Amino acid sequence: MGFFADSLNRIQPSATIAVSTKARQLKAAGRDIISLSAGEPDFDTPQNIKDAAKKALDAGKTKYTDVDGIPELKAAIVAKFKRENGLDYKASQVSVGTGGKQVLYNALLATLNPGDEVVMPAPCWVSYADIVILGGGTPVFAETTLENGYKLQPDALEKAITPKTKWFIFNSPSNPTGAVYSADDIKKLTDVLLRHPHVWVLTDDMYEHLIYDGLKFASVAEVEPKLYDRTLTMNGLSKAYCMTGWRLGYAAGPEPLIKAMCKLQSQSTSNPSSIVQWAGVEALNGPQDFIAKNNAKFIERRDLVVSMLNQASGLVCPKPQGAFYVYPSIKGAIGKVSKSGVTIATDEDFVTALLEEEGVAVVHGAAFAGSPSFRVSYAASTESLKDACTRIQRFCGNLK
Ligand code: PLP
Repeated sequence: MGFFADSLNRIQPSATIAVSTKARQLKAAGRDIISLSAGEPDFDTPQNIKDAAKKALDAGKTKYTDVDGIPELKAAIVAKFKRENGLDYKASQVSVGTGGKQVLYNALLATLNPGDEVVMPAPCWVSYADIVILGGGTPVFAETTLENGYKLQPDALEKAITPKTKWFIFNSPSNPTGAVYSADDIKKLTDVLLRHPHVWVLTDDMYEHLIYDGLKFASVAEVEPKLYDRTLTMNGLSKAYCMTGWRLGYAAGPEPLIKAMCKLQSQSTSNPSSIVQWAGVEALNGPQDFIAKNNAKFIERRDLVVSMLNQASGLVCPKPQGAFYVYPSIKGAIGKVSKSGVTIATDEDFVTALLEEEGVAVVHGAAFAGSPSFRVSYAASTESLKDACTRIQRFCGNLK
């Protein structure tokens, strides 16, 4: 297969997208499937944001824009960082892309050289490692444990850093574990980073607003201003604003990095959709009260799912305080045999048999470099969550 790029062979297709696609196909074929695999809120985009898009369309905002964002959106982002994070950025320090994923991709591809290492906590979001590999770098996983609430400890970070480390990718609230780091937790990590001035920080704040139990969000450069000059603060509209399909993400950081990211984007997608950018202005500047309403629902669902999964034999499900995922351990199910005779040797075996036997789609922990576990997205109706958890309980109960 000499036709395809070697770099393509080094990466995997996104496992979360693969599971969601398989679930959709099985559903279309008439199977009774509940999919808890997608990383997106089930709530619709707020009406004022949709109206802003319609208005932009009618006003003829349909032409190319500046590659990395219209001035109005950059101004809204600058104001957001000041208002919500106490961070001062200029418009020239802001980059807007087609989803947070593109922004991350730009940052990594614009900076990595062969041999560069990128440290990330494990488990972590599926795409970090593959984007690093595409960029010619090497992902380095710094392990977290269920006992520590899946929060990276300073000694594990220290151990993972070498002279070759270029970036540390940080993500709180975390996908897939839902772990939330307090400002104190972050300070312990930034103290380590201060001892390694060659390491840059890419903080993925995508789930900033999805935070529960009275916890307060903190961002890296806010906690440790001495890291401001080597931090890229990334965020987006997908999750809290229920805009996954619109594709809009952004980041702010040192100007030379932002310029390099813009250069890359100018030779790939150019600007994110002009219409979506105007919707983004409204999302950031408009009313924010829907977020608290959505979060109240997420809390109810989290509590339901955690309680039901902890009643499934062999599962241990910690109660996370952010995002819309839970990440139960299946250690107690490893080595057992399912109703249809499948031996559960890995978490991939577990989720495949669960989909086959009970029609519940979840994502295996190996996809997030965190086994043996699986990720459940509870961004679904209470009714389907109850149904899915009952099926998971039955599946686990049938393991011998
Ligand atoms: N970062 C994390 C941790 C995510 O979970 C996701 C989406 O699943 C993204 C970034 C990218 O989001 P988007 O490209 O939809 O803005």
